[in-house]
Amino acid sequence: MRDFIEQLRNSGKITEIKNPVSKEFEAPRIAKKIQGPVLFHDIEGKKAIMNLLGTRDELAAMLGVRKDMIIQKLSEVQPDGEIVMVCDSPTMEVVNEQVDLYRLPIMKHFAKDGGPYITAGIVVSEYEGSMNASIHRLMVIGKDKLAARLVPPRHTYILHKKAASKGDKLPVAIVIGTDPVITFASTTRVPLGKEFHYAAALRGAPVELFACSNGVRVPHAEIVLEGYIDPVERVPEGPFVDITGTYDEVRQEPVVHITRIIHRKDPIYHGILPAGPEHLLMMGVPYEPKIYRAVSEVTTVKNVVLTEGGCCYLHAVVQIEKQTEGDGKNAIMAAFASHTSLKHVVVVDEDIDIFDPKDVEFAIATRVKGDMDVMIITNVRGSSLDPRGAADGTTTKIGIDATKVLKQAEMFERATMPE
Ligand code: MN
Repeated sequence: MRDFIEQLRNSGKITEIKNPVSKEFEAPRIAKKIQGPVLFHDIEGKKAIMNLLGTRDELAAMLGVRKDMIIQKLSEVQPDGEIVMVCDSPTMEVVNEQVDLYRLPIMKHFAKDGGPYITAGIVVSEYEGSMNASIHRLMVIGKDKLAARLVPPRHTYILHKKAASKGDKLPVAIVIGTDPVITFASTTRVPLGKEFHYAAALRGAPVELFACSNGVRVPHAEIVLEGYIDPVERVPEGPFVDITGTYDEVRQEPVVHITRIIHRKDPIYHGILPAGPEHLLMMGVPYEPKIYRAVSEVTTVKNVVLTEGGCCYLHAVVQIEKQTEGDGKNAIMAAFASHTSLKHVVVVDEDIDIFDPKDVEFAIATRVKGDMDVMIITNVRGSSLDPRGAADGTTTKIGIDATKVLKQAEMFERATMPE
């Protein structure tokens, strides 16, 4: 992560806050205002980075591609990169057996939050030969205790359930501040245990792992919290702000006990601002290749974006090269099937800039006839994060086919000026 921060610094993209800042509301407030990457030098004496991958520009820089090629790159890469086991790591520069989470710059973000939250902690777990790495929000409930929101039926939830059914503790290591490619890979739905392989493939170089004292293997990072998830203990977790910027409900969730903390000298903590641009991108971007591949099965897809206005989760714009009449509607159905949380989708032609909301609106304004081009699908499964979702979890989905009528294509031609 330090190399990436250095890269951002050299290209003048980072805001550095040198004066002392409180971890309670003040640092998150600054990160929200600035939007781009912010490096705090003194959050109660500790360093922290926020908005690290806050825009598609940073994501493109991380992947080494142009911004409009991110999805194509993510669609091509297979989770089969190389993993190398090493014995030593700079992460072990400082070993702390006296665990005190309150000494880390773990922030409290919003007024009604249940407590301070670790928001960029990759929970690496291993049980009976299976491993998983994924980000979970972690609420600090004591100096060595966290409440973890384990969403069913994700991999950590499954491994914990499996261990708990035999009365076993699930060993975990929570990785904070690693190579952003690894952080990004851990937010992607790849087959069980393939996150680090996927990161290696994205990076085009092997990922090195070392073993923690509890046996869990992790990549080099600024900070690693070692411990286990308790098989039975549960506590109220929340409220916490999710991608829509509204409060998610309080649930009974498992407890993580932290037994040891290892970190680099003068570590840089990584925090993701809830509902901030980095959170939205991490939640949304991994779904874009899924939609892209699904639509490619029914027509020629050019690009896909989950828009910021739609919380990078609920709204998609799908760009196709329309081949036959009806392609737009087939693209709508494929998009809904591939990302079940998707609520509204607009399908556009290749002359529309899908990253420009005005251009998308232009397509809706000039290429849609409501009774023919709008599909309404009722009583389908929606997102638990949609505040307007019904109590039974179903919702109504709307697809808008804003593509040209092929037979009258010339009527839709956008005038250009000669060079
Ligand atoms: Mn997984």
